[in-house]
Amino acid sequence: MTLALPTARVAESCETTVPSVVGARLTVPLLDGRQVSYANLDHAASAPCLDAVRDAVDELLPWYASVHRGAGFASQVCTRVYGQARDTLRKFVGARPSDAVVFTRNTTDSLNLLARSLPKGTSVVLFDTEHHAALLPWRGPRVHRVETPAHAGDTVLALDAALAECPVGPRLVVLTGASNVTGEVWPVAALAAVARRHGARVALDAAQLAPHRPVDIKALDVDYVVLSGHKLYAPFGAGALIGRSDWLQAADPYLVGGGATRQVVDWGDRLGVAWTAVPERHEAGSPNVVGVHALAVACETLAEDWAGVAAHERALFARLRAGLTAIPGLRVLELFGPEQDRVGVLSFSIDGLDAGLAAAALSAEHGIGVRDGAFCAHIATRRLLGRVGAEEQRAVRASIGLGTTAEHIDRLISALRSLAADGPAFRYAEVDGRWTPADDDRPLPGFLRQTH
Ligand code: PLP
Repeated sequence: MTLALPTARVAESCETTVPSVVGARLTVPLLDGRQVSYANLDHAASAPCLDAVRDAVDELLPWYASVHRGAGFASQVCTRVYGQARDTLRKFVGARPSDAVVFTRNTTDSLNLLARSLPKGTSVVLFDTEHHAALLPWRGPRVHRVETPAHAGDTVLALDAALAECPVGPRLVVLTGASNVTGEVWPVAALAAVARRHGARVALDAAQLAPHRPVDIKALDVDYVVLSGHKLYAPFGAGALIGRSDWLQAADPYLVGGGATRQVVDWGDRLGVAWTAVPERHEAGSPNVVGVHALAVACETLAEDWAGVAAHERALFARLRAGLTAIPGLRVLELFGPEQDRVGVLSFSIDGLDAGLAAAALSAEHGIGVRDGAFCAHIATRRLLGRVGAEEQRAVRASIGLGTTAEHIDRLISALRSLAADGPAFRYAEVDGRWTPADDDRPLPGFLRQTH
């Protein structure tokens, strides 16, 4: 019983072909009454669905049925799909045969699960510029936050020093593959080598790296990889934690219920519960087979041509960076400096222009979607804004992906040039901390029921 992978459709952009995305021809209304194609430059927050993923989901839906427990043929098909997805994810990250693949909701869920599974007394070491999903799940006196140095090479020395101070016992180093604020790629292999010397395990937050570059557990020599389907062009609510199974096997599930239990017996004053083994132990509740299948198809589609993905993003990112850095008053945020390797993410502030107002005007006057704020990495964003002398606490982030075209980039550059020089062309008001056009009668899409 095999489920054929749909042939990936491709989009042409910047002279390379890459897998195409749903919504590539979406148009949005502007305040001046025009309708323009939507320039989605917010891939780092959440990426559009691949056409190949949509087709695969369509193909699966008629077969949709329960996973694991059903005797019906459709249940068996779905159970097979779910199991195949584990193998695909294992392959996607180059996992060791003994590694567990646990399906979760997203990176946040995966890291919280790992945090709840640490052996007692584990020391956790991490850099303080992490995304909140990687920064916050670890609790207690054995969490060591290392200040991120200004040079990538110094991260190795800083980690070495922090690990040397750790008490005896299990240790976990939490690293990000690529910063969601600056797009800078961290020297993961070098840091993992330091961790190894100190007997520490390494968890890699690949939420931002995996959509752009191959991630290989064995080559990087890390112990865990976590990722999110919605950042990998599979927005159907699945993510994964992949890695060493012993700690996960020894831990009680932090989400309990059906699927995680082998047997429950009534002992009168309490219930006796025998948990299942990993991965089911940490997948209580009905599995999200549609999401998991979508994630697996996205991984297979991306892995078909990493070189094409890289070429597409490299060309567009060079265009983005050259255009933005030439705008007077625009200050690019960077942890380590312009020479550092990056994925297609770039955050910046503009002198005299509020980030939220800039993002609102880019949307309402130019049909461009970007993100503004501190990007769930408050420490990193505020520190970097301080470093470039910005007074505000928020930045603008443009992030590119498979749906991006050269026209999107050029439109952003030209819009920012005009915003930096003259400000917005329309009036905006700040409501509950968000800037919105003062007079906005743009129609919402028909499928949204109007509530007024
Ligand atoms: N880690 C990084 C680097 C991220 O960029 C994000 C999301 O932006 C996360 C973790 C959390 O991902 P999710 O919201 O999918 O759980």
